[in-house]
Amino acid sequence: MPAIKIRFAPGTKQDRLTIMKEAGKGKHGHILWFCECECGNQKRIAGASLKRGAKSCGCLTRERNTKHGLSATRLYRLWSDIKRRCCCPTDKAYKNYGGRGIRIYDSWKDDPEAFIKWVEETLGERPTKKHSLDRIDVNDDYKPGNLRWATSREQARNKRADNQVHPEFYKLLTEPLVFTYAEEKGGLLA
Ligand SMILES: [Zn+2]
Repeated sequence: MPAIKIRFAPGTKQDRLTIMKEAGKGKHGHILWFCECECGNQKRIAGASLKRGAKSCGCLTRERNTKHGLSATRLYRLWSDIKRRCCCPTDKAYKNYGGRGIRIYDSWKDDPEAFIKWVEETLGERPTKKHSLDRIDVNDDYKPGNLRWATSREQARNKRADNQVHPEFYKLLTEPLVFTYAEEKGGLLA
């Protein structure tokens, strides 16, 4: 008897999960669905599990076993992202972080609890989904005093300011070109 095909409308919310789209088959031939979890995780979950009422990527179960809530789960993921970027040369982002000498504060390096506690007490809850943890000085470490919640727009502004050529220097770089062009143009017209 063929299995009854389970369907979900894209965007269906099921507790922490948002079911996005069909995403191929698992190794036993069952249909997988690409899901986004409120904790920030993305996961392919079997349609049958969803039908049985799966509520999260697995973070709910993990939280039940610890004292942490959703916010701490997100912060734990953040900590492990930062740690990989700074400490793991095989991570694809390493060249922009650890590879540039950006480090993670010693007391946080092997202690996610310390990191989570500091963020919760110092920066508080992430203001909105659009905010992420930003380094104020992009050339400095993940450490107390250099972190804030910022939107990607604020972060882009920060990065631009950092990479920006000094206006006077910019003039020096561009003006001779403009001048030469004007000269040539003048020459042509003359
Ligand atoms: Zn989750």
